[in-house]
Amino acid sequence: MKWWIKLNTKAGEPDRTAKLKPDEFAAEVIGVKCQCGAEPMFVSGTGKRISQDPKLKHDTYEADAVCTKCNGHVGIIYAQVSTLFGLEEDERTMNMGIRIY
Ligand SMILES: [Zn+2]
Repeated sequence: MKWWIKLNTKAGEPDRTAKLKPDEFAAEVIGVKCQCGAEPMFVSGTGKRISQDPKLKHDTYEADAVCTKCNGHVGIIYAQVSTLFGLEEDERTMNMGIRIY
């Protein structure tokens, strides 16, 4: 699985992404300091969903990234998984209780 975070930026600023080092309960955002001063910054993800980005929705989940120290919303976490049929199809298959080997 491939992980990354897209950090919140102010209007007009270019997109800013960073690598994540996932831990059991949170992920360290490599090389990024939170506005609350947390360094390194650890984030946890809430509201996991299939990405709405047309380029990513086939195989990537996203979740809101929240700083574990100040609870501020700092960006969006992306998790790209390997999938046989695409996430929507995989979830449908799993919900039916069918396993395909
Ligand atoms: Zn913070």
